[in-house]
Amino acid sequence: MRNKLHPKNKSPWLAELHRKRDLLSLHESVSCDLLVVGGGIAGLMTAYFLLTETSQKVSLLEADKVAHGATGHNAGQMVSGFEKGFKSLVERYGLPLATRAQQDILQAWDLLEEIKKEMDLETPMHIFTGYSGFTKLEDLLEHLENRYWLKEGGLPVESILIASNFQYLKTIPEKFQNLFAIAPHGRILELLQTKNEDYMAVSMSKAGVTNSAKLTEELATKLLALYPSRFKIFEKSKVDKISLHKESAKVYSSEGHQIQASRVVLCTNGFEKLTIENGTGPNIDDSFHTLVKGLVGYMLGFYEPAGKNPMSVNYHGSETSTLKTETEIPPYFYLTRRPYQEDRSLLCLGGPEYLIPDRHHYDRDTHIFPEEAHTAMDSFLKKNYAEAERRISYTYFWHGVMGYTPSGLRCVGPDSLNPVLMYNLGCNGTGILSSIMGAKRIADHINHKKLEPSIFDPIYSEKK
Ligand SMILES: Cc1cc2nc3c(=O)[nH]c(=O)nc-3n(C[C@H](O)[C@H](O)[C@H](O)COP(=O)(O)OP(=O)(O)OC[C@H]3O[C@@H](n4cnc5c(N)ncnc54)[C@H](O)[C@@H]3O)c2cc1C
Repeated sequence: MRNKLHPKNKSPWLAELHRKRDLLSLHESVSCDLLVVGGGIAGLMTAYFLLTETSQKVSLLEADKVAHGATGHNAGQMVSGFEKGFKSLVERYGLPLATRAQQDILQAWDLLEEIKKEMDLETPMHIFTGYSGFTKLEDLLEHLENRYWLKEGGLPVESILIASNFQYLKTIPEKFQNLFAIAPHGRILELLQTKNEDYMAVSMSKAGVTNSAKLTEELATKLLALYPSRFKIFEKSKVDKISLHKESAKVYSSEGHQIQASRVVLCTNGFEKLTIENGTGPNIDDSFHTLVKGLVGYMLGFYEPAGKNPMSVNYHGSETSTLKTETEIPPYFYLTRRPYQEDRSLLCLGGPEYLIPDRHHYDRDTHIFPEEAHTAMDSFLKKNYAEAERRISYTYFWHGVMGYTPSGLRCVGPDSLNPVLMYNLGCNGTGILSSIMGAKRIADHINHKKLEPSIFDPIYSEKK
């Protein structure tokens, strides 16, 4: 693949970071009670709950810099869905467990609000109604089926509008009749901000946009200021090996220093070249390394005039690209808009994804943004987005890795073979709210709260 277009990975979120903290690396061997590995949103949210809900000493090791992983290269859309349709969760785990998982993700909205208040966070968060558009009957029926099961589980179900001129309107099964309303076609196109008349239905749900990198960096700065004697962040300090014992772990950094801790929480977005030695019994390393597969997602961004409303729209049924993917839901294009810097709006487009073959390493600085992804995105935008200009000048083009577990769900909790090791990682396409949910659950585990079984428990993540 050639890359005439985008020689660098240029993220709008990192461009807005304006970091003020000094960088501290691990320069000697130390000890703490709880060690978090990984300084993305999952790591900092985990640190937040460990600091606010326990009295223990917490350290965080980050191989690069805080918020420069997926957290600095995403679409920044807050959504409370899964990478799988709710119906498939019901089929796989049963309605009670699927319902509880959805409630847990929904609760992350409240947790985020609480964190924002407690920490006086200034990073903008725009919350609104997000839209998903459908062109095909089969996609719409699947979506209605998901909504049907959400309702069966007693969960909140928001509206769906179907165009009055939709040719298959009369074929929609009786059991879905109270889940949608009829609207003029023009209204549907207007909500989806599209000129593509193939879109025949729109569903609505709570959504939001934020700069998760800025949020994570702000949280890091404020936690360090608030807990100077209990919290340390070491950046440019990669973990090479974790040696697990019965009630403690020794963690080795690539510079040869060690950290002794009673629990280690991996918030590494999956993998990343570290070895796990389990001194108490069976091998964990092999299962850990097959736990997460990486999928690279590509994004483009361009400026629009200031004053446009923040929004998020997913376009189902629109063609994406021939890049390989392995998620259960086929890739679709999605748009977000938000105020950006003082005098602009930023429109971001995502969709194409590429599965990293096993044992291949992704390097965000040298990985090439494929020309075919750019072409597919550009032509999608021109065909679909109502306000697209004939020539769009993209200012930002970036990519990042999403880590997927075999179950397609986030993996949260203690390892089943050695609970000294814990996880809050994986399932990354919708990782912002789920990493907050996971962070709270980790603190609940540490505090020995009685937790109901969850489909996020590691034992489920390992299975398809
Ligand atoms: C293109 C794209 C679009 C996305 N869009 C959305 C979206 O719209 N909405 C949404 O909710 N989610 C989205 N996501 C997912 C979301 O960004 C992630 O779920 C979230 O940022 C993950 O945070 P994290 O902390 O788990 O991972 P990361 O931010 O990747 O952090 C993991 C950190 O661990 C560090 N690390 C790894 N190994 C080691 C080691 N051995 N030693 C020390 N440190 C280590 C890494 O350097 C990294 O900084 C998207 C992701 C991508 C790539």
